[in-house]
Amino acid sequence: MKKTMFTIFIVALIIFVIDWGVMGVKLLDHNYEVMTETYIGLLCWIIMIGCALYKSFSNKCPHCGRLRLTNGDYCSYCGKKIC
Ligand SMILES: [Zn+2]
Repeated sequence: MKKTMFTIFIVALIIFVIDWGVMGVKLLDHNYEVMTETYIGLLCWIIMIGCALYKSFSNKCPHCGRLRLTNGDYCSYCGKKIC
């Protein structure tokens, strides 16, 4: 599941970068009809934020169930090892 979210994040990031490239070229070409690119960029941005939020909220300790803020091997609340 985490790998899927990561893939979605990377795809959204790539689309976002390409989208900004297209928008930049259009603006340099004095073409200000970039509404489609704006929406695509916004959508990618929302997807990326969604993935980041999901990642931070799914990072829970299997022993005490509290949210882990670090990616260490041991839980910072109960001190047990994260498998
Ligand atoms: Zn814990």
